[in-house]
Amino acid sequence: MFQFDSHPPIFGRDAPPQEHGRTIDIISAQPGQTTRCVITSSWLLTCRTHWLGHGDSKPCFRTPECPWCLMRLPSRWKGYLCGFLTTMLSTCIIEITSGAVESCPALIDQGVDLRGKVITLTRVGVSVQGRVRATLEDRNFALARHPLPQPFDLLKALFRIWRFDRAAFTTKTITEHEAREQIKEGDA
Ligand SMILES: [Zn+2]
Repeated sequence: MFQFDSHPPIFGRDAPPQEHGRTIDIISAQPGQTTRCVITSSWLLTCRTHWLGHGDSKPCFRTPECPWCLMRLPSRWKGYLCGFLTTMLSTCIIEITSGAVESCPALIDQGVDLRGKVITLTRVGVSVQGRVRATLEDRNFALARHPLPQPFDLLKALFRIWRFDRAAFTTKTITEHEAREQIKEGDA
């Protein structure tokens, strides 16, 4: 049996190798369920995404050339964090909605280092469209005993899920104010 304490795993920053076709699971709040996870990245990576259906989503180019905007597919603001599920000893991507940020503004507060905090996501009601509430807390004693894994390459992991070439994109760092403006744009 795997003994966490006597044989601590070696953690890295790399995403699973492409050749095995594995992706890191995205976890989001399910209706009536509470999801708790330790955050291993320091800040929220944000992006608008287009939902193509059948489990497929793509990042929005945010330019008039975006192929999915041209197809008039709606886009939604999303935030992503590197997570670690202590119950499974596995990495995951934590998906954050605009509603979650509304309930927990610290998620986009650039004065807050999110690494090591425990996030709890709860979806209100029974609908998958229900609003998500988020809370942040410091790791308790039991969780703090375990070494915190290094964050993996979140962008690389997302591009793998999107099955999309990262080279087609540029990324930029935005301010908290710009993040708020983007959230205000709503679900266009
Ligand atoms: Zn688009």
